[in-house]
Amino acid sequence: MVKDLVCGMMVDHRSPGAVYDYRGKTYYFCHENCKKQFEQDPEKYIDKEKQDAPEPEQD
Ligand SMILES: [Zn+2]
Repeated sequence: MVKDLVCGMMVDHRSPGAVYDYRGKTYYFCHENCKKQFEQDPEKYIDKEKQDAPEPEQD
């Protein structure tokens, strides 16, 4: 499971609602709407995540 950085939900990365590649990393979202918000200002959500918790591991 990975965290949707926009809404904070945990998302199954094997069947996410939406996926977005940014600066060589793949981000997963529960829904297209969350992806669209992330696209508009990725750094805002990435910076927030760094403060909250370590990077999620991918298997
Ligand atoms: Zn979401």
